[in-house]
Amino acid sequence: MKPLDWTVTARDGNARTGTLTTRRSVIETPVFMPVGTQGALKGIRFEWLEDEIDARIILGNTYHLFLRPGVETIIEFGGLHKFTSWNRSFLTDSGGFQVFSLTELRKLTEEGVEFRSHLDGSKRFLSPEVSMEVQAALGSEIVMVFDECPPGDAGYDATKASLDLTVRWAARSKARFDQLQAEGMDSGFKDPPADTGGSDLSGKQSLFGIIQGAGHLDLRKESLERTVEIGFDGYAIGGLSVGEEKSVMYEVLDFIAHKMPEDAPRYLMGVGTPEDLIEAVNAGVDMFDCVIPTRNGRTGSAFTSQGKLNIRNAKFATDDRPLDPDCSCSVCRRYSLGYLRHLYQAGEMNASIMISHHNVAFFMETMRRTREAIRAGGFQSFRKEFLDKLKANATGGV
Ligand SMILES: [Zn+2]
Repeated sequence: MKPLDWTVTARDGNARTGTLTTRRSVIETPVFMPVGTQGALKGIRFEWLEDEIDARIILGNTYHLFLRPGVETIIEFGGLHKFTSWNRSFLTDSGGFQVFSLTELRKLTEEGVEFRSHLDGSKRFLSPEVSMEVQAALGSEIVMVFDECPPGDAGYDATKASLDLTVRWAARSKARFDQLQAEGMDSGFKDPPADTGGSDLSGKQSLFGIIQGAGHLDLRKESLERTVEIGFDGYAIGGLSVGEEKSVMYEVLDFIAHKMPEDAPRYLMGVGTPEDLIEAVNAGVDMFDCVIPTRNGRTGSAFTSQGKLNIRNAKFATDDRPLDPDCSCSVCRRYSLGYLRHLYQAGEMNASIMISHHNVAFFMETMRRTREAIRAGGFQSFRKEFLDKLKANATGGV
């Protein structure tokens, strides 16, 4: 039995809609996946995500969950779904990105990466095998291979060497993943409790490969070919939005996305702004994740159809309009800019919660409109209108 089902349902240029079905949810693409770093979306309860925002898949971070609460605790609960009570799909990253970006002290070898936990300084180790074992214990529907993430400004030779290592690690990830699936996924850890019902540990995860190569197009192409040769259920573009110029990111996307296999979902990791999402869909990408809706929400920054808005701005003090007149989320239906600004200025946690809520709802709504436009064959006019509105605001239009 296949771990996931993927069907392309409409095309408009390189942009496409599709249906991704896991054992836990049916996901319409292009999709934005909110990030639940520590097993929770910051400020947003799962009830809101399910009932109102209608997220069908969220991310969990292997690095963070590996360090805290730790794999043993999650196995004790019978997997990440039972632990968190999120019953729809999870995609877990491999932990690689965090190891390379969060930890100062690390030792990279062919075998894996030794690093010190950012929590208590303890010595830890991640490798393709360990990452697969941790993600098996988490029980996510989509597992990512363990890759090396070179910095955005890495030179050609360093990028090539990193890419070679990532390909070797992808093959090792796949080998260990296949073993774990055959063994019922919990091998390498103690037996799961008998009452899990087996649903979290039933051996039906899928594995995505990751294409690296920084801004070097020939290396991107080589990475794609060698990753496809190993063979995965889906393919991701990694190593973008890591400090390179935006034009480089768009150039890589336009070059590589439509070359990725038609018959598998394409996932752009860790990107990005609403504008980035629309441009990546235009290049042929199906899936996204990013922390910015909640990160910006916490600092009072809202994404709207008219561009970005800072709730601290004094001009909103007596403004009785919603955050975004075009948004139908529960925050915009009920609360005014002036009230939200007051809450933010007063240090009330509701300000961060409500702006984060709106931001996630806005990203989801943007993807819903994108899917509609593609299905109707009007993606290019939708894209132009969407980007023009943002531009008008950036130049002082609103
Ligand atoms: Zn809203």
